[in-house]
Amino acid sequence: MRPALEIISLSKNFGRSQVLRDISLSVKPGELVCLIGPSGSGKSTLLRCCNRLEEPSGGDIVIEGRNIHAGTARDLQRLRARTGMVFQGFNLYPHLDVMGNVTLAQRKALGRGRGEAEAKALEMLAMVGLGEKAKAFPAELSGGQQQRVAIARALALDPTVMLFDEPTSALDPELVGSVLAVMRDLKARGMTMLVVTHEMAFAREAADRVVFMDGGLIVEEGPPEAVFGAPRMERTRAFLQRLG
Ligand code: ADP
Ligand code: MG
Repeated sequence: MRPALEIISLSKNFGRSQVLRDISLSVKPGELVCLIGPSGSGKSTLLRCCNRLEEPSGGDIVIEGRNIHAGTARDLQRLRARTGMVFQGFNLYPHLDVMGNVTLAQRKALGRGRGEAEAKALEMLAMVGLGEKAKAFPAELSGGQQQRVAIARALALDPTVMLFDEPTSALDPELVGSVLAVMRDLKARGMTMLVVTHEMAFAREAADRVVFMDGGLIVEEGPPEAVFGAPRMERTRAFLQRLG
């Protein structure tokens, strides 16, 4: 089966510091891959390279068989839509209501008309459990609800792969569960996901594969039972021990 996302020998330098070193990783359709590792190991940079928020210094990224570095600016907009990015901060537009937030990119990036964009938005909001909140403004929502709106906004663009960068790190502990529940539900619906997370319990139970990064390298990867239960590399063991 063709991978949904293929990262091939990716490298990234910022000035003289090499932040990603020859990273290769391929994510199958429907697979949930959790990316773990210490702060500064390059996880966010890797995700950002996948939708060209960062330009790699070397290597390739291929989504559904298409190299994302080929093509025009217009292609880039569509490419960004095919990778649904969800950040730690929700980045909703405060002056737009939930419906406005979830329809804006659909209209701008995909050229959907208002009716189609609104219908899609309602469908995605229902999926994240916020069908009743279309008219609310971000400030009227909890952090967990805002993050679910951000997920609905990304899903509305019919992405090939969802990229999550510590989606629950900015949330109060009691709100984390609602966001993880939506992610589990997406997995059950067959969505392909690459998730940077510090939620080890989630990674252990929901991931098909866990990838441990350190110092810009993939140090170890495997099924969660293997990486958490019997890590092969000393650096993985040390990282997991520090987490307690
Ligand atoms: P992680 O997400 O694993 O914490 P990052 O990808 O954010 O790691 O960062 C990896 C390294 O790259 C860090 O040393 C960070 O300081 C550096 N870095 C990230 N973004 C930039 C940037 N725009 N300019 C310079 N250095 C950066
Ligand atoms: Mg990061």
